[in-house]
Amino acid sequence: MLFIKDIFKNKDTYTGKIDATVFCVNLFIIFVHLVLMVCYIILKHNFMIIVNTFSILFYVTSYKICVTKRDQYVSLSYIEIWIHTLLAIGSFGWAAAFQNWIFGLVAAAFLPSFRTSTYKVSLKKSFIFAMFLMFTYFLFAFISYRTGFKIDVEVPYSMIIFLFIFNNIIAFFTVILFALTYTDNTTRKELELTRKADFDELTGIYNRHALDAIGATIAKKCKETHRSYSVAILDADYFKKVNDTYGHTSGDLVLKELANILKEYSNENIIVGRWGGEEFIIIATYEIHYNHFVSLLKKIRAQVSKHKFTIENDKKIKLTVSIGSSAIYSNKPLEEAVGVADNNLYKAKQKGRNRVIG
Ligand code: GH3
Ligand code: MG
Ligand code: MG
Repeated sequence: MLFIKDIFKNKDTYTGKIDATVFCVNLFIIFVHLVLMVCYIILKHNFMIIVNTFSILFYVTSYKICVTKRDQYVSLSYIEIWIHTLLAIGSFGWAAAFQNWIFGLVAAAFLPSFRTSTYKVSLKKSFIFAMFLMFTYFLFAFISYRTGFKIDVEVPYSMIIFLFIFNNIIAFFTVILFALTYTDNTTRKELELTRKADFDELTGIYNRHALDAIGATIAKKCKETHRSYSVAILDADYFKKVNDTYGHTSGDLVLKELANILKEYSNENIIVGRWGGEEFIIIATYEIHYNHFVSLLKKIRAQVSKHKFTIENDKKIKLTVSIGSSAIYSNKPLEEAVGVADNNLYKAKQKGRNRVIG
């Protein structure tokens, strides 16, 4: 039970989601085989009862390895489905639609999660496997039409109809499930790309590219409503010294922590981002009065100066920041606002640093 809880605990992460899906698929396959078992028992089809017993035993015992050793589990389940399909077609013929399981296997061969796992199955290998399945599909058709297994069990028409409907529904849902997995994977990749394009890799806050876009939107809105927005530029004092004394890695840790402090102040009207190097930008929309913005900047400066930054070997160091700010009236682009703020930052540095000038 602990194992099951662990699986579903991480279902919000991508790999956690795959684990949970594989686990559920395994349960679903067991259910399908149990339904088939009922059919085989009703028919007193001893041959398929034995085959199916092995299948069920495989899926029941692999409730754990389907997650912990996913690649091996997937390969083994391919083999199981392939053999089961072959034997079922030989026993019940083409009309019972067991062959449609092969379509599920073809879709599964291209599963993105499978291709990115430890096996690293290439697209070429997946394609070759799909071609092999197509070949065997025709082989199964040949077996079914020519001879079958001629097992002496009478299969009533109603049972053939049931198997036809059941197998087709399962095959369709299998294909739908895999299609959903592909869509989900594509959406995830798109999100990742957006993250990479808009967020700074080191600190995780907006990068300059995103700030430019956000700034342009805010400036446009200001122009339309004749209101003003505010911008501040924050620069770490004597940051070169941090790098020279404690190393670049420690410098990076300080920048991350500094970004985290700024993040605490961000909301829908206060946007923070990394302008570059050890410089950060804070934008306040027209909803924030300039005086209020300046007192917020003073609060940030005070908080940073009191903060103990953790660097390599858990050492603690202090750091101060200088901030220059500006209020920009409507119809002025972000660049201009940053230019004015930058002049004020220069003044703050000149006056001895660790201060806000706006
Ligand atoms: P000032 O008080 O005048 O701002 O002095 P400063 O030393 O902070 O200013 P300067 O512009 O001379 O140096 C900035 C330093 O920031 C130089 C560079 O090595 C460092 N830096 C810029 N980006 C990064 C980064 O991503 N990681 C680390 N560790 N250091 C960085
Ligand atoms: Mg600088
Ligand atoms: Mg600096």
